Amino acid sequence: MLNNLHLVSKWGCDGSSGRSLYKQVFTAFQQSDSDLFMTCLVPLQLYALSENDGKRIFLWQNPRPSSTRYCRVVKLEFIKETAEVIRMEKAKMEKQMKELLPSEVEIPDLPHVTVHHDLCMTMIDGKTCNALTNTNSAQKCNTCGATPANMNDIDEVEKN
Ligand SMILES: [Zn+2]
Repeated sequence: MLNNLHLVSKWGCDGSSGRSLYKQVFTAFQQSDSDLFMTCLVPLQLYALSENDGKRIFLWQNPRPSSTRYCRVVKLEFIKETAEVIRMEKAKMEKQMKELLPSEVEIPDLPHVTVHHDLCMTMIDGKTCNALTNTNSAQKCNTCGATPANMNDIDEVEKN
């Protein structure tokens, strides 16, 4: 019986700046709508585990994983994208993901279905990756910390 499902989704965040200013009234401390920061998620595949061999049985796959078609906004914020904002957003999302309960789906005359959520933070750009790995320079490798000066020195890079 396929009533225990898993939904794999990817999520990420990115900012955009230099947007047009509109004469909006802000009640909070932020005073500008020129910077926008968005967190969103995209469902990728829905699967069940086979009771016989434990293999994944795919019930649905996102036909356009790189399209915005299935993209769902988690949050939109008028805030400038900084390393601190990115780190805070990741911490907030991880806390919510830990507390996330499986979705119970009730359809009349059909067996009850439980959907477990599996989220991966893979929709990130270089700036977000550098902020999360505490890489202070955009020229540094965010995996091993190599700088352009020692990238051709394989012995030096392997030390890290
Ligand atoms: Zn590297």
